[in-house]
Amino acid sequence: MRTQQISANRFSRAGRGLSPRPASTCGQTAFAFWMLILVLATGWSLPVGADEAVPADAAPRWWKGNLHTHTLWSDGDDFPEMVAEWYRTRGYHFLALSDHNVLAVGNRWMAEQTVRKRGGDEVVDKYLARFGPAWVERRGEGEKAAIRLKPLAEFRCLVEERGRFLMIPAEEISDRAEGKPVHINASNIVEPIQPVGGGTVVEAIQGNLRAVRDQAERAGQEIIAHLNHPNFGYAVTPADLAQATLEQHFEVFNGHPGVNQQGDDKHPSVEMSWDIANTIRLDELHAAPLFGIATDDSHNYHSHPGEPKASRPGRGWVFVRATHLTPEHIVRALKHGDFYASSGVSLREVVFDESAQTLRLQIEPAGDATYTTHFIASFAATDDQPARIGVEVAASAGLTASYRLTGEELYVRARVTSSEPPADPVWKGQRAEAWTQPVGWRAELAGDQ
Ligand SMILES: [Zn+2]
Ligand SMILES: [Zn+2]
Repeated sequence: MRTQQISANRFSRAGRGLSPRPASTCGQTAFAFWMLILVLATGWSLPVGADEAVPADAAPRWWKGNLHTHTLWSDGDDFPEMVAEWYRTRGYHFLALSDHNVLAVGNRWMAEQTVRKRGGDEVVDKYLARFGPAWVERRGEGEKAAIRLKPLAEFRCLVEERGRFLMIPAEEISDRAEGKPVHINASNIVEPIQPVGGGTVVEAIQGNLRAVRDQAERAGQEIIAHLNHPNFGYAVTPADLAQATLEQHFEVFNGHPGVNQQGDDKHPSVEMSWDIANTIRLDELHAAPLFGIATDDSHNYHSHPGEPKASRPGRGWVFVRATHLTPEHIVRALKHGDFYASSGVSLREVVFDESAQTLRLQIEPAGDATYTTHFIASFAATDDQPARIGVEVAASAGLTASYRLTGEELYVRARVTSSEPPADPVWKGQRAEAWTQPVGWRAELAGDQ
């Protein structure tokens, strides 16, 4: 009986997807037949209580997710359920819809004219085609026609799958300081957080992070905050990144084409800013380094790869190593640095062996791509020379790479670069990459205290 149930579950997943066509009955019969043969031949069955989605002996594994996403609830151009479906059907395990200064709660109607102006004439039709008239709520006629934006609490049960796909309530706290945008994502929140402002960029970052921390304490819930797109409007300098020490995570990659990811002749790239900030933190402030997250910051769901300027989904994500797909496990692993950021390269393994002081990784091959792993470190200032920042200390080709720290580094991290571009490049010449977190600094920091 137990075995039959599990077979049925397995089959129903094989048939899921965006396609409205039912899975073929012929395929069902063939599958059931072969499952029966397997069961008879091997006597295979799972013990009572065993569970594929939530096993009792869950081991750590990688979960893929995007923590920065917009919908019609703020300035995105699609309905939240449609956006969740985009991610669910493309192998993501978790998603945070993070609209500006709002949580998807309460009763909210939007003029259909506004919806169509945002996403084009087909937006409502696509929504109707996927979820149907029994789900989509409309009222009024002509210019008065309006459509209801569903709160997360109402639609999450339609898209979530136990152990497979999880929605995490989130917000992009969108503040300004010194005339510049200061945006911070807070994921796994229970109520919206209004921007607190500040006399300087650093004050605004610290103030908003305190507000996040206060909510987490009040709610008794794990919340993860990360600073978004520091080079958007060149708002957050590497020194700001360093000094706002309540901040532990930031976006080393953001897929929006307008966020100056690569910097310019006056401003360092976001990746170089990461090394500058982490060097200042470890060498001068005796503070923990920042961890780097990759996100989409997706707004536009109706344009196609190759079309310029749109901020489409599928460009940046994290793989988090945790035993369970729950908000708390994902958030705790992120806080501990047990994750890597990616714009198209997947890693099978990332291990920092504390006793051997060695960072080791293994790359998941894809097609004909070849890979180069760059190990990047910073070194403290000495009497003779200033700090050396973001220095490539080793590079190697192939699917495995390792680096043994000499003891001189403030930290080391790895960037893996593919020979291939990502599926939907943000800029010309972009290559798919993965970024691991800085390691080798914990002992040093403990020694300072
Ligand atoms: Zn933003
Ligand atoms: Zn955003």
